[in-house]
Amino acid sequence: MEYDVLVVGAGAAGLMTAIVAGGRGRRVLVVDHANRPGKKILMSGGGRCNFTNTGTTPGHFISANPHFCKSALARYTPWDFIAMVDRHRIAWHEKSPGQLFCDDSSKQIVRMLLDECAAAGVRVETSCPLSNVRATTDGFVGETPLGHVRAASLVVATGGLSIPSLGASGFGYALAEQFGHSILPLRAGLVPLTLSGKHQERYDGLAGVALPVEARVPGASFHDAMLFTHRGLSGPAILQVSSYWEAGADLRLDLLPGLDAAQALREGRVERPGVELKTLLSSLLPRRFAERLCEVWLPNRPMRQYRDAELNAIGAQLADWPVVASGTEGYRTAEVTLGGVDTDEVSSTTMMSRRQPNLYFVGEVLDVTGHLGGYNFQWAWASGHAAGLAV
Ligand SMILES: Cc1cc2nc3c(=O)[nH]c(=O)nc-3n(C[C@H](O)[C@H](O)[C@H](O)COP(=O)(O)OP(=O)(O)OC[C@H]3O[C@@H](n4cnc5c(N)ncnc54)[C@H](O)[C@@H]3O)c2cc1C
Repeated sequence: MEYDVLVVGAGAAGLMTAIVAGGRGRRVLVVDHANRPGKKILMSGGGRCNFTNTGTTPGHFISANPHFCKSALARYTPWDFIAMVDRHRIAWHEKSPGQLFCDDSSKQIVRMLLDECAAAGVRVETSCPLSNVRATTDGFVGETPLGHVRAASLVVATGGLSIPSLGASGFGYALAEQFGHSILPLRAGLVPLTLSGKHQERYDGLAGVALPVEARVPGASFHDAMLFTHRGLSGPAILQVSSYWEAGADLRLDLLPGLDAAQALREGRVERPGVELKTLLSSLLPRRFAERLCEVWLPNRPMRQYRDAELNAIGAQLADWPVVASGTEGYRTAEVTLGGVDTDEVSSTTMMSRRQPNLYFVGEVLDVTGHLGGYNFQWAWASGHAAGLAV
């Protein structure tokens, strides 16, 4: 079997590469070892796929080379993808500012991509692992259950390690290494954090309690919701900050973001001098959490018994609450994988390897990881588009 382009991975980036290359008249085969294409797309956004973010900027991505993503993102914008979605009459809505979701189902996005592949003459084969890949004088050859496949270009679109049950594998990284690429350290991102020992016991029983916080680690902060889980902390603020957190990093929470907590406490003392601190805090924080704060960490007395200095100290504590996380929930639940193929060895305009001619890397397998909010799909579409124009 002879093709111009062999794409490994029928996920977001691989399908986009195939659509663009097929549209240019290239003969394209996409192979995936999973039994259906686009499994992560199906799972994404709670089944409604947060397929892009209209506020996408290079600043929403983590990479050892923050400039690498710029060219592809500038040449394929969220509006280009929205135009495709609109052409397929898929209804969508904006949730948080910029985050676009299907009104109905993620299935529509996968259907759209497969319809575009069919229209571009792309062949997509699932339950079709690729092995024994090697370079030849005129491209690449590899083995599949369909037989030997030869292709002039090989596109690695195998994604990251997150959620092995959805088809994730390290195959793309191994392939990259085989052709002389360096892999920057891999780590689970957009992932819940775990607590252990006394740090967990102190928050025991709060699972399900949610509150807005500003979560901070050195170099990054996110203002969004936080959720207590049975094993630690989750919610968008924690998922976001997890991509910047490393073992031992100093994680701090502003438990009353946007509020001068000390001032609120002093005003509370004037307005309700007879109520206890935990009652006053319950009007600012979820009641169960406020009570726990006063059981474990804060002195609990009627408000009139506090001096200014004490309220100021409590306010400062609430604004800079230390959390000792023991780890993350890992690839089992992570939305993304940080690190990956070193972008210094890849062209930012074509996604072609600088080590091996006609070898391309697109999507999450590269060391480009987006924040939460549709940015990861936008990177998959944009990098796939760039490669699709070049293969
Ligand atoms: C639960 C969940 C929800 C998410 N929600 C969102 C969201 O709403 N918005 C957003 O922007 N991002 C979201 N993400 C992140 C997003 O899904 C990924 O960043 C994106 O899918 C990456 O695209 P990709 O094409 O690089 O990789 P993938 O979409 O992961 O595709 C890789 C493909 O390669 C295949 N593959 C792997 N190994 C092999 C092999 N050895 N041989 C053949 N095929 C192989 C896999 O089966 C898979 O089909 C979510 C992730 C998860 C896990």
